[in-house]
Order: sequence, then C-alpha cells, then structure tokens
Amino acid sequence: MRARIGEYTARATESIRSEPGVRESVTGATLAFDRKRRNAYADIDSDHWRHWAEAVKNHTLTHLDDYLTQAEERLEANGAHVHWAADAAEARDIVTTIADDGLVATAVKGKSMLTEEIDLNPALEAAGIEVLETDLGEYILQLLDEPPSHILGPAIHKSLQQVRDLFADRLGSAPDGDPDTLAQAARRVLRDAFIHAEMGITGGNFLVAETGTVALIENEGNIRLTTSLPRVHVALVGIEKLLPRMTDLAGFLQLTARAATGQPIGCFVSLIQGPASQPGDDGPEEVHVILVDNGRTDVLAHPHAWEALRCLRCGACLNACPVYRQTGGHAYGYVYSGPIGSVLDPGLLGLHEAMPLPFASSLCGACFDACPVRIPIPELLLEWRREAQEQGLTPWKERAALAGLASVATRPGLYRLAGRIGARLGGTGAARALPMLGEWARDRALPRPSRRTFRELWREGIE
Ligand code: SF4
Repeated sequence: MRARIGEYTARATESIRSEPGVRESVTGATLAFDRKRRNAYADIDSDHWRHWAEAVKNHTLTHLDDYLTQAEERLEANGAHVHWAADAAEARDIVTTIADDGLVATAVKGKSMLTEEIDLNPALEAAGIEVLETDLGEYILQLLDEPPSHILGPAIHKSLQQVRDLFADRLGSAPDGDPDTLAQAARRVLRDAFIHAEMGITGGNFLVAETGTVALIENEGNIRLTTSLPRVHVALVGIEKLLPRMTDLAGFLQLTARAATGQPIGCFVSLIQGPASQPGDDGPEEVHVILVDNGRTDVLAHPHAWEALRCLRCGACLNACPVYRQTGGHAYGYVYSGPIGSVLDPGLLGLHEAMPLPFASSLCGACFDACPVRIPIPELLLEWRREAQEQGLTPWKERAALAGLASVATRPGLYRLAGRIGARLGGTGAARALPMLGEWARDRALPRPSRRTFRELWREGIE
C-alpha cells in the first residue's frame, strides 16, 4: 500500500468536518473493543503477562538471526518451502512466481496487513490472477475498493446501513437484512471461491522457531479454509513475528486475543507446519513461507524504534486512542494507523515520508496501558518528534518559536520581563498571534490569564 501520509492533517480535518458517520462508527466500535479488552485484562494478572510478553519478544528480537535460521531449518524439515524477501517488490515477485509455477488462476486470501503493506493484490491481478478477500471486513472493502481502516476490524468505519446498501447492490441481498443475513450473502460467494481456488494466501500471527509452525488466529473460519482447501498455501510473515518455543505461543495466543477482542482465545487457531504428508491427506500439496523484511532490519537497528517490532497487530492501542477515534485509519495514509502507525511508519518508511504522524497524538498514554507487549508508544513519539526537530522537518515557525522560548527561559531577567508583558497582553487576544498557540487556539476559548505574574504574586505572599 503506497503511503500518502503527508496530507494527514488535511484528511483528518476533512474526516472530522465532513464524515460524522465515520466518527460515529469508529468511536462506537473502538469503545466496545476497548471495554472488552479492559474486562479481559482484569480477569488475569495482566501486568505479569504483559511484562512476560515484553521479555520474550525482546529476547527474540535480540537473537533474531538465530531464531530465523532455526525456523527456516524446521520449516524445510517439515516439507515447507522458505523464501526470503528483502522488500515489497521481492515479496510480490515470489508470490506471483509461485502462482505462475502452480498454474494458479484464482487465489483466496485471509486478512493480512503485511499483504496490504506490500500491495500484493494489484500485483496478482496484473499477473492475471483473480484474488478474493475472505475476511468479511476485507471482502466489504474489496467490493468498495478501499484500504483497511483498522488493523483488526478493517471495515470498522462502515455502518450497518452502508453494508446493507452495498450487498443489496452487489450481491442482491435484502436491503433491510440483519447482520446474519448479510454474512450469509457473503458466505455464498466465498464458499464457492474456497472450493475452486488453487492458492490460499495468509499472513502469520506468529512463527515458532522451535517447530517451524506458523500460527494464525481468527474468528470467522475463513483462514482455516484458506489454508486447507487450495492445493497451494502461501504464508507471508514479517521477520519480527518469531517466537522461540511452542510454550511461548500458548501464552501469546491468549494475550493477543484478550488485547484484540477481549476473548480468552480466538475462535480458531490454525497451526501450519507443512504440506499434507501424503497424497489424499487433508491439507495443501505445497506450503510456502515467505519471510519479509521490507524495512524491519532498519527499524531493529534504530536505538529507540526497535521496540515497535514487538507489535502483535492486536489493534488495542487504536481502540484506546482518543485521536484515532475521531477519524479512523484512512486519515493516517498508510496501512498501519493509530498510535502504532505513528511510531512504526517512520521506521518503515523513513521519518520524512511519515511526517507528521509522530505529532498525531495527545501523549495521554492510553496506548501504552492497552499494549500487551508494553511498547512505550508515548516515549517513541517523543523520540521521533525530537528527531524531526533536529532534521528540520517541523514547520519553521514552530522551530523559531521553540528556539525563542529556550532563549528566554534560560535568561532569568528576560524571563521576568516576558512574564510581565505576557500577563498584560494575555487578555487582549494577542496570544492567538503566536506561531504555535494561534493554531491551537483557533477552535478553543483561551482562559484569561492573571494580570499579575506568578513571581509578583509570590513576592507579595499571595497564594
Ligand atoms: S502497539 Fe501494542 S496495542 Fe498496538 S497493535 Fe501493537 S501490540 Fe497491539
């Protein structure tokens, strides 16, 4: 998915002012997810589990080369083919070559943010392969030709009525259908596709190095069918998705589901190790696992941003975020939106490309409290902001204002004088003319400041 981040402010403003339905749908859904997540955390010693998960991921990331080698060996011993993709173009080429070699005309796909990241669908379609999304939310968006708005609930920004209208128009379902009827309408199309597709494409929530196992969590059963009915299964897995042992997986499956949807565990967990062991057995004839870097090695080398690679893509930080809730994901302009997008995208795409996402946050800290692997998102946002400032990527007015503030704040005499002038001018609305405050104050009423400075009041002993 090509990034279009630069216009974040304009898109967010447009969304807030012109699309109240998006705000309503996103707010309703994220608050419900967040409430379920809080309840699910309260049922366990979540602090203990979150510290444990952080430690396992940190250990894995600091020994990633060893675990990747081990995973490759185990997968190949299981009969799977392992491929390495340095970037999006290589990943796309590998998938289209596998499809070409397997005479694939139709592919079904499970929800995978990595395949969105590498723009896989357009490449397959250009190669003459029909691709059908099988996650219900992704299927809705495919019909609308829209990118996902949320890591977990891609069509979270759509109302029930919008889906009714879409399905009535495209699938001939009743215009007043309830959610069950709508799901049945989609299921009729998707069942047929599962039976006829030659290739199933998925991501991978985890890859266990010890056994060479790709683990996939879902609630709809579409991934189970995608990985078992077509004769070729391709799993695209980011290199950061490694876990050392099966015992680690047991903990992560539960923690991910609690963080994502408030469930103790996902309805379906598929563990893929390789192809069917002999002709006639259930399962695909070929399993290909593509290990994708696409900027992750650079993020790993960054002194701070590497912590974002612990991300499980559970979406809990998006659900907790008061900023994301206003606009949904499209305003962010890239597949990873919300708090995690604001710290991961600068690492994957480059800070210049990802501006101004590190500033799209109130720094309230709700994302950190929700995160099952304790990624310090507010701290990472501040680091990216500091780097943006150093690289001259912030507006010149803001940099000049901050330089001026530093200069005044480090000179006591000047500071006292500025305080007196500020107190006298404060009530006149002059503050709105200041470079940084003016923008902030445009839609807010500023409090009238005291006519006396704090120092003057202090000197006179007035509390
Ligand atoms: S940053 Fe944490 S909360 Fe957000 S998606 Fe990743 S794992 Fe989930």
